Amino acid sequence: MKLNNNTAKALKADFPIFRHNLGLVYLDNAATSQKPSSVINAVKEFSERDNANVGRGVYSLAARAMKKYEQARKAVANFIGALPEEIIFTKNTTESLNLLAYTLSQTIEKGKEIAVTEMEHHSNIVPWQQLAKRNRFKLKFVKITKDFTLDMNDLKVKLNDKTAVFAFTYASNVLGTINPVAEIVKFAKSKNVITVIDAAQAIQHLSVNVKEIGCDFLAFSSHKMLGPNGIGVLYGRKELLEKLEPFGFGGGMIETVSPDSATWAKIPEKFEAGTQNIAGAVGLTEAINHIKKIGPNEIADWEEKLKDYVLKRLNEISNIKIYHPEQNSAPIISFNLPGIHPHDVASMLDQKKIAVRAGHMCAMPLMEVLNAKGGVCRASLSFYNTFEDIDALVDSLKEIQQKFNKI
Ligand code: PMP
Repeated sequence: MKLNNNTAKALKADFPIFRHNLGLVYLDNAATSQKPSSVINAVKEFSERDNANVGRGVYSLAARAMKKYEQARKAVANFIGALPEEIIFTKNTTESLNLLAYTLSQTIEKGKEIAVTEMEHHSNIVPWQQLAKRNRFKLKFVKITKDFTLDMNDLKVKLNDKTAVFAFTYASNVLGTINPVAEIVKFAKSKNVITVIDAAQAIQHLSVNVKEIGCDFLAFSSHKMLGPNGIGVLYGRKELLEKLEPFGFGGGMIETVSPDSATWAKIPEKFEAGTQNIAGAVGLTEAINHIKKIGPNEIADWEEKLKDYVLKRLNEISNIKIYHPEQNSAPIISFNLPGIHPHDVASMLDQKKIAVRAGHMCAMPLMEVLNAKGGVCRASLSFYNTFEDIDALVDSLKEIQQKFNKI
């Protein structure tokens, strides 16, 4: 089904949050997406009917819970073109990246370097920065261009025979920039660099296929793709996951334990210590079903139209500064009204029930590069947004600017 403004309104009706918050204009989808009834009900039904711990029980209820958990793994694997054993459930993107930084650090030789980009979220900087500090690796930042894209020339200089790992975002949570991930991975491979992709912002807007991209690792969170909070994914290439040491130790991840040693379970269990978020996994399956039912391509087409509209309308505002590339972008648009602090803008929008994010967006190094030390305002869209939501935003921004100009 092709999406348009009317179908978007109909799809919005699947999300109870809008019934409970009448008039809400939700433009903070990059922080977290809202959850449809199907996801909320799947979590509730699992808790009411199927709840048991997985992995250990022999009774039917535990077997049913286990089946649902493993179905979730298959659903995620299928969604991103991976094998089920290549899917590790974590708490969120941040935990996936921490797990990786910790376990990869044990495989990196002295004198090697790690590279990230200037457009990373703190979750894809700090784990690498701390690892670099602990092990005295150098951490390098690939630059962005004045057009808010990744500087591919700088990338080709920064990734070299000394680089062990390159961790980079698929889509920027500030600029919306979609990076040419397959091209980057191809180049990184030619230098024997391990590639880690932060897909936190890509997963809700694009069809992500890890085999087509060819990356070694990829991380994302369920809560940004209509799913429940508290469950995230780390994809890793099977051969690599098999070689890596576990990150957390305890129940569920061992094969045998004696008083003075232990051996590890096969992947993916090796990386899933302790009781997992089973109900969350069930909810994530339903989120994937919801997206598939609407159609990832249809979602992308409609979001492209919404993005063009928001950019066109924002450009009506005099002197607005928009931080967004010309092409290849997700519907995540950051901006500043000159002379007005982004927090003031967001608070005044809130008075009109318009939810946007303001501040450093967990990307302080990028704020420095953008010369936006006070932060930015960010409107981030989803398929359930409408032209009316965007009109409400832009009309309110115009009013705010007029009010401030009078003061
Ligand atoms: N990376 C990016 C690009 C993000 O936008 C976010 C969330 N804002 C994260 C990582 C962290 O995600 P989470 O908080 O779900 O771990």
